[in-house]
Amino acid sequence: MFRIKCMENRTFVDYLRDFDENIIEKETSDLAKHHADALNRVAKRDGSNCRYVIQKMTGDPNWREREQQRCSDGTYTIPYFAMSTAYYGSEYNGLHYLHISQDDPMRVAYTPNDEYGRHDRQVRVRLERYLDRFFPDLPTVLRNEEIAEHKKRNEYRPLHFAQTADEIEWVYLNGPRSCMAKPVEDFDWDFHPVRLYATNDLAVAYTKAPDGGVSARTLVRPYRKAHARIYGNNPQLEKRLEEAGYYRDDNLFEGARLHLEYHDDDKIVAPYCDPVRHARIDEDCLTLDYEGDICLNTEDGVVQLPVTCDSCHTPVLPSATRPIEANGTTEDWCEDCIVDHAFRCNVCHEHVPEAQRNETAEGRNVCDRCADSLPTCAECNVPTTCEWPDPRSEDQRLCSLCEDSVHAELENAETEITHA
Ligand SMILES: [Zn+2]
Ligand SMILES: [Zn+2]
Ligand SMILES: [Zn+2]
Repeated sequence: MFRIKCMENRTFVDYLRDFDENIIEKETSDLAKHHADALNRVAKRDGSNCRYVIQKMTGDPNWREREQQRCSDGTYTIPYFAMSTAYYGSEYNGLHYLHISQDDPMRVAYTPNDEYGRHDRQVRVRLERYLDRFFPDLPTVLRNEEIAEHKKRNEYRPLHFAQTADEIEWVYLNGPRSCMAKPVEDFDWDFHPVRLYATNDLAVAYTKAPDGGVSARTLVRPYRKAHARIYGNNPQLEKRLEEAGYYRDDNLFEGARLHLEYHDDDKIVAPYCDPVRHARIDEDCLTLDYEGDICLNTEDGVVQLPVTCDSCHTPVLPSATRPIEANGTTEDWCEDCIVDHAFRCNVCHEHVPEAQRNETAEGRNVCDRCADSLPTCAECNVPTTCEWPDPRSEDQRLCSLCEDSVHAELENAETEITHA
């Protein structure tokens, strides 16, 4: 790629742009040279001292995609001003990729031109300077408002830790929105599930907002210096945590204990737990465990305890089991076991273990108990659901298969008697 440089003011000639405002580059030196020659002829004709030369482009030609990606994936924190219509409608939107400086959150950073963009260089300035330079027409009232808002949002916020149940609940109720940030009345229980975090194993780290509330929070495991997903204005909290030696590692939460609180015999209170969504019950506490049977992913603050399938002995939620008459008692089987090792009786319509499958003369599946209560066909001795009367004896019954043959036999016998 080649571009044309004006030697007089040492800038690139970039009046040739495509619809996306990208500078059109010349693909070969011949093309660029041809273009530079034309510019030089015009300059000479006009009596200008300006001379144009061609220069090979270096750096990343796709830098705009790179910057756009950083804006959208959270690498860059977008300043309040960059969300205003003044910025959005300006020619700088799509060039500057204005963001909060990663070194100094009180400053903004931007890409002044294509050359800087290609070499991944940004300029850092105070917002005041940025506004005065690029938005000199912004009314003073608006300008001052933007500066005050920027300051409010980005000034240094110290790190706090909530450790007691009251403190933790306060942080959740006064901070960023999430499924656990709702008031206690909205849960199926009379205290807030996040209170269960108040053990020695866990705490909640947070930064305060200018209004005294919470601007960002995350669950931490202090002993292992690990934090979980951050909710809210994260660059500030993430930075503070980093300074305090914390890093994000959900795996380090495994084994952390929560308080155990029963709701009913078969239900416990549980928060939606980000880093590890499973737990097991250990005597008097709830221990985070990836392999645990208890799912900590409900938003209503209560989870049902699993029961053990009486057939395959794996834990399963009570709602996913069915009672089944087996081994002389009523057992609770999981759905898989019902499908694989049971059948539905055609008479009583109950699920019954495979071992108790019987077939009637008509080929229907019935359980042991129903098979016993059905009449037996006087001819083939198999239980039947048809119960045709046996013409030979009032007490006897025939199945539908034997019925025809018995009648035919009787008719034959009668015919023989007549012929005799
Ligand atoms: Zn099972
Ligand atoms: Zn039955
Ligand atoms: Zn029969």
